[in-house]
Amino acid sequence: MPTHYKDPVIACDRRGATVDRPPGREGTRPLHELGWRGRGNPHERPLRFAPHTFVWSCPGCPPVI
Ligand SMILES: [Zn+2]
Repeated sequence: MPTHYKDPVIACDRRGATVDRPPGREGTRPLHELGWRGRGNPHERPLRFAPHTFVWSCPGCPPVI
């Protein structure tokens, strides 16, 4: 299930693995360094605004991007 950008816990869309959203100003960069990948939810409408939900993959799953 896609993760809302304000959700304190990020969940892998495939297996349900979760990780706490990093608290710092770097955003989710520390997660990318651990192998997590996220992208805007392609099913979200309308698409003309920045997405509010993101699909994520954990380090053990095929990356979403
Ligand atoms: Zn996963």
